[in-house]
Amino acid sequence: MARYIFVTGGVVSSLGKGLSSASLAYLLQSRGYKVRLRKLDPYLNVDPGTMSPFQHGEVFVTDDGAETDLDLGHYERFSGISAKQSDNVTTGKIYSDILKKERKGLYLGKTVQVIPHVTNQIKEFIKNDIGNEDFVICEIGGTVGDIESLPFLEAIRQFSIDVGNKNSLFIHLTLVPYMKASDEIKTKPTQHSVKELRALGIQPNIIICRCEQPIPFGQRKKISLFCNVPIKNVIETIDVKTIYEAPISFYKEKLDQQVLDYFKLKSKKKPNLLPWKKITKTILNSKASINIAIIGKYVNLKDAYKSLDEALTHGGIKNNIKINLIRVESDHLKPAQIKKKLLGIHGILIPGGFGKRGTEGKIAAITYARTKKIPFLGICFGMQMAVIEFARNVLKIKKASSTEISDNCIPIVGLIDEWTKNGKIQKGTSKDLGGSMRLGLYPAKLKESSLIKRIYKSKTIAERHRHRYEVNINYQNDFEKNGMLFSGISPDNKLPEVIEIKKHPWFIGVQFHPEFKSRPLFPHPLSVSYTHLTLPTIYSV
Ligand code: GLN
Repeated sequence: MARYIFVTGGVVSSLGKGLSSASLAYLLQSRGYKVRLRKLDPYLNVDPGTMSPFQHGEVFVTDDGAETDLDLGHYERFSGISAKQSDNVTTGKIYSDILKKERKGLYLGKTVQVIPHVTNQIKEFIKNDIGNEDFVICEIGGTVGDIESLPFLEAIRQFSIDVGNKNSLFIHLTLVPYMKASDEIKTKPTQHSVKELRALGIQPNIIICRCEQPIPFGQRKKISLFCNVPIKNVIETIDVKTIYEAPISFYKEKLDQQVLDYFKLKSKKKPNLLPWKKITKTILNSKASINIAIIGKYVNLKDAYKSLDEALTHGGIKNNIKINLIRVESDHLKPAQIKKKLLGIHGILIPGGFGKRGTEGKIAAITYARTKKIPFLGICFGMQMAVIEFARNVLKIKKASSTEISDNCIPIVGLIDEWTKNGKIQKGTSKDLGGSMRLGLYPAKLKESSLIKRIYKSKTIAERHRHRYEVNINYQNDFEKNGMLFSGISPDNKLPEVIEIKKHPWFIGVQFHPEFKSRPLFPHPLSVSYTHLTLPTIYSV
């Protein structure tokens, strides 16, 4: 039977529960155990698909087409296991399932209540779709004390009774602040947070303390005493220089060892930390660096393009080069300023996006990349914009655009509401915005003698999608005659998946999101090639 590890957070949000869970998963896995990671989010949206990246950061997409919390991206990058639809749930999803059952009369006339119906539904989710995993790590979003997270905390409390203490463990992550004025490390917020948790019936077994400075023995003892945990289970986590150092730091603090001790398990082998040591060393020591301009709408929020930032870093690790990401707000990017704004840039990247705002700035930047032969990567919306730019300025279709951003245009990019998956027709809808896009893993065929095929070293690929609009295949001949190749196409030959410009050192657009599949230990080939080609020694603007 699987053992369940519940990770909660206290005092403030953004303490790194996702990273801690992901690092623990790696350590346990590396010791020879099979691990699964799950995220329970207390907000009311059915999934984060309709939420603005400003609100919640990037929406991460799984192979099986779930739009999920970005923490699932961390889980995949650290554990290497592809997450599934069944690994992320929200209050909205729990309630929508309950209400569907209620309408069908499945509650047999009973009053439907938070306890037991909502808590039962949460418990069902926690144990659903588990195979021979040794550990299931469940992270509870939000902070203890939020009204929203109460049903989740109650559900995990009940769950641990159901499966027994022997099979469940609670980890609580809190902030241990350093007060500069008094030169002191304060344990009181942690004490209060644990008190709150205990009032809900949950006694944490391990406390992870996020702090800027090492926690002296005296303060650790205090946390142990007031929070009722053995001192060896007070684990400190000091800010690391790169997130990929986190598994090393948790290993040093013996987090994984304490987990095994708690479950009375022996380590099958010693964790292999070498890959993380190598990565950390490369990130911290690489001398050469390149500047990549990410031109988009959500540049002010660090987490909005999380997987993309990570994927580029992975390419940099492989090439032993530091990647500086320069975020450029597309909204106010006027053609006249582009040269100045993009001074010293070695590569231009337009990421995924939605809606009209900022599109003209993106198109102007693409013109610059195309004509000045600057390496360019367009992802999803970025590819659509590249096609529109080419149509307007090379094919001279002045009114070329996407029906997403203009009602009165020549639709080079348009809404599709039908596509095939595994031989079956899938239908989208423009009425409901949630979950109605072309989502998840789709195969594509790559053309012989194309740059993209050389990069992937394969004739077929499968990548994750998240979009509603597509480039119109009917224009393929016009584009190809003029130098833009549709070098990747869906198996039914209907949907352009990759475009590239032949007479350009590196100009690629992809309809999918390669960043979701890049992992530090297995960098994505596109990212490796893109960050390699932009090396100043090889190519200089
Ligand atoms: N807005 C575009 C579409 O729906 C692109 C989406 C994206 O970049 N993920 O097709």
